[in-house]
Amino acid sequence: MSSGVGVYLAQLAWMIPLTAGFCVLEYLYPAAIRPTWRNRLENCVYLALVLPLVLGLQASFDPLFNYIAHVADSGWNGRSSALSRTLPGGILATIAYALIWDVWHYWIHRWQHASPFLWETHKFHHSDPMMNATTQGRRHLLDYLLNLICHVPLLLLLGSLNPIALVGVLMFRLWGFVNHANLRVSFGVLAGVISGPQWHRIHHSTLPQHRSKNFATFFPFIDKLFGTYYAPAAGEYPPTGLLDEPLESFACSAAHSPLVVWYRCAQRFVADRRGQRKWISLRDS
Ligand SMILES: [Zn+2]
Repeated sequence: MSSGVGVYLAQLAWMIPLTAGFCVLEYLYPAAIRPTWRNRLENCVYLALVLPLVLGLQASFDPLFNYIAHVADSGWNGRSSALSRTLPGGILATIAYALIWDVWHYWIHRWQHASPFLWETHKFHHSDPMMNATTQGRRHLLDYLLNLICHVPLLLLLGSLNPIALVGVLMFRLWGFVNHANLRVSFGVLAGVISGPQWHRIHHSTLPQHRSKNFATFFPFIDKLFGTYYAPAAGEYPPTGLLDEPLESFACSAAHSPLVVWYRCAQRFVADRRGQRKWISLRDS
């Protein structure tokens, strides 16, 4: 068996039981309307199909990432990498990594919402009208590509500094399920410190008062810092989906929709004889 197939099967091996576990929890303690089986199935089948492409994309970036990490570690990052090999240093390095990662991705995420061009890479993720744990895998391939490209400055800053493996799995695997879960749970006093299902649901809300709120992946206080924080009231679990965008089929959104929109906008851009060259999103048409 090739290593690529092995990695793919290993990813499925932990994702399938995790998906099933969240499915049971969401059935028992739903926050809002229960997702249909078709909704869950579409998200799961999509993830199973797109995952080999995502893994291939990541593998194609590996030589560049290894080179950048090597270059960065020969500078000041080398000292912090050595520090992270001790236990206290590793804990500190993990906290630093998680914070810096989340601040950086906060801005990438906010940029995706602010720019009509980049919104096309992220719209598919927001298009789920029944957000649940399987929504974490509903990301367009171009979304992954953008995040890989935007990882380069982070690598230059952090070198090979990485979170402790266990925390890394928690951060980058489990938390996607937690954040998107259709679960009526409260984090209590930790609600303003750690992102959870209710807090992230506000970000996916269709209600106008929730627009452009709660961008952080792990730490809500980053939103507080940059003025986009929204504290949900007790029992506030809004409907999710796109606010004012034309509905498209799942297959169309998952496959070529961003490319079609960009092509149409490029045509308008070229056809504009008055020189008012501004990106016009599909929302304006
Ligand atoms: Zn978003």
